[in-house]
This record gives sequence, C-alpha cells and structure tokens, in this order.
Amino acid sequence: MKISCDVIRDLLPLYYDNVCSEDSKILVEEHLEQCESCREELKKFDIEIKYNTVNLEDGKAMKKIAKAWKQDKAKAFTKGVTITSLLMSVMCLVMFNVIGSEVLEDGTLVEPFILIPLFYLFAFIALISGISLFFISKYRAKQG
Ligand SMILES: [Zn+2]
Repeated sequence: MKISCDVIRDLLPLYYDNVCSEDSKILVEEHLEQCESCREELKKFDIEIKYNTVNLEDGKAMKKIAKAWKQDKAKAFTKGVTITSLLMSVMCLVMFNVIGSEVLEDGTLVEPFILIPLFYLFAFIALISGISLFFISKYRAKQG
C-alpha cells in the first residue's frame, strides 16, 4: 500500500511521541525507509523538540495552557453561578406574584414572605458573581 508523504507527516508527531498505534508505526517506518524527505522531516522534528526542551519552552507553554484552562474553568463556574442566581431571583419574584397573598377566614394574612429575602439573596449573589465575571473577562482580554 502506497501512502502519501502528507499522511506520514500527519503521523510523524504521534510516531515521535510513540503514541500512535502499532499499525501506524509500521506504516511510518516502512515509509521512512524509502523516503528521504520524510526522514529529513523527522530529523527536523527531533531538533525542534530538543531545542524547545533545552529552552524550557515546553514547560512555559504547558504552564500557560494550564493557567488559561484554570481561568476558563473559573469563568465558566462564575458564569454558571451568575445565571443560576439570576434565574432563582427572578423565580422568587414570579413565585411571589403567582402565590400572592391571601387572607384566611380567621383574618390572618398569608404571604410567601420567605421569597422576599430569598430574592434579595439571589440577586445579591448574581450581582457579585456578575462583577467577578466582568473582571475575569477583562483580565483574560488583557492577557490576550
Ligand atoms: Zn515521504
């Protein structure tokens, strides 16, 4: 089976890291035996990786990715809290209006008072997390 150099070059990084399947490995090795330019490509790859490792670029890049990942997670979490709190506060208001107040036969006024502080609580959480989200986004934009 004849495989194009393009396919082999796609596989080279995996082959280099030794994470490709046994079949791909055999394919790459077979191809490398008869293809000078792909051998050169693998060598270049080798040099590049070594160069990066020596300069600790790999470590830096990994740290950057890890940091961005952490920030994304924090952002996603804050977003979730903001949306949930907003929904909850709106729900409290809606519930309050739906349930409404009612005067029992003996004259006691029954109102879902508990919903009022709950509304303020959720609105407050939404406000705080909304502000945090704003600053997280701003920080991220600054980092580029
Ligand atoms: Zn080739």
